[in-house]
Amino acid sequence: MTTSFEPGEKIYGLLGHKLSHSYSPQIHEKLGLHGKKHYKYGLFECEPEDIAALLKTENLCGLNVTIPYKQTVLAFCDDISPEVLRIGATNTLVVRDGKISAYNTDYTGFKYMVYASGINVRDKKILVLGSGGASKAVVCALEDLGAREIVIISRNGANGYDNLHLHQNADIIVNATPVGMYPNNLERPLDIRAFPHLSGVLDLIYNPDLTGILLDAETLGIPHLGGLHMLVAQAKAAYELFTDDTLPDSVTNTVVNELKRESLNIVLIGMPGCGKSTIAKKISELSGREIIDTDEEIVKKTRMTIPEIFRKQGELPFRTYEHEAILEAGKSTGKILALGGGAILNPDNYPSLHQNGRIFFIHRETELLATDGRPLSKSPETLKEMQKIRLPLYQEFCDIEIENDGTIEDAAREILGKL
Ligand code: NAP
Repeated sequence: MTTSFEPGEKIYGLLGHKLSHSYSPQIHEKLGLHGKKHYKYGLFECEPEDIAALLKTENLCGLNVTIPYKQTVLAFCDDISPEVLRIGATNTLVVRDGKISAYNTDYTGFKYMVYASGINVRDKKILVLGSGGASKAVVCALEDLGAREIVIISRNGANGYDNLHLHQNADIIVNATPVGMYPNNLERPLDIRAFPHLSGVLDLIYNPDLTGILLDAETLGIPHLGGLHMLVAQAKAAYELFTDDTLPDSVTNTVVNELKRESLNIVLIGMPGCGKSTIAKKISELSGREIIDTDEEIVKKTRMTIPEIFRKQGELPFRTYEHEAILEAGKSTGKILALGGGAILNPDNYPSLHQNGRIFFIHRETELLATDGRPLSKSPETLKEMQKIRLPLYQEFCDIEIENDGTIEDAAREILGKL
């Protein structure tokens, strides 16, 4: 994937190997809108042998650099900043008068992430997972922020995952590995419950919004933050190097919030017949978001209708199909997820839905619930009984409760307004 530029157009962008999931073009677009300077930001997926030619391209003004070229490109640079010399890797190149200067804005970005998390790293013992490029920038930033002891946990180093018990007294964990990153959502590099003194968990991963260890930290009431603040803060620092324009720090938070609003899934839960599918269609019409209806996914996969599955196999196999569909749907971003009414019966569905989503409970009085084609909505009495059992579960699962007692458009607009 390589973006094309018009002849004479100034070239900015991201150099890496696999870039299809990058948020960087969106972020630089937003930074340009908040600042005075606007530029086209492309993606340059390159093989190692193409890098020299790319760096000599006429009109090249600025590049961010990601895996696996953060060290490779240093051989082509004329000027290397002190933080790059210290970290040993660059993520930002600026071309001025034909000369290439290398910077590291991951360092600045991580410092901002620590600040945004409210986690105090001064005088703390910190475990940094992974020993790659990002880990090196993190370690430098933590040193400068006054950490007492920094231990790098590496699969090959003296401190590994098989002797973590030596560091049970750690105060803070920073994940600088790709473990838990999309599409391996919910994978964990370690079990944070083994560290009883933890006062903070930071994960550089930004997709999903909440990784496995961040979900665990949330459950345990430990302060935590994911990598989106770092991603935007490092991009803001790169924007400033590219353009000589300065943006206030508040722009970072504004862009983080804008990105979250766009990338979070809208998850709709509620009783069978409460209007989830119709509301999903209306939200899609109003926002352009795609819908994932987990019942439809199950029908596609099993080639049976939902009543047929219940009749031929029973409820238990259906709940397994549903869990599998939710595991997959929960990995998506920026979608509308319409779920079957019983999705809340399995608590294991919650992390999948919560990691990237805002969960809306569509509440509707029992008398108003639709019953056609719904195997478990046999009679008004059954529905009433079901509603009584499920109501507390819906309320426990959801972030926001919506009363569907007006028009479908009212409910859809209320959801979009509360996202
Ligand atoms: P990298 O250079 O590939 O290094 C990752 C390190 O993680 C490796 O050196 C390795 O360390 C460890 N690792 C890799 N696979 C592993 C596995 N399966 N199990 C356990 N450890 C594993 O990547 P990076 O550039 O440092 O980036 C690391 C992570 O940070 C990525 O998820 C990246 O997306 C994220 N990141 C985020 C931002 C941001 O702005 N939010 C910026 C930069 C990077 P050992 O061999 O020592 O175990």
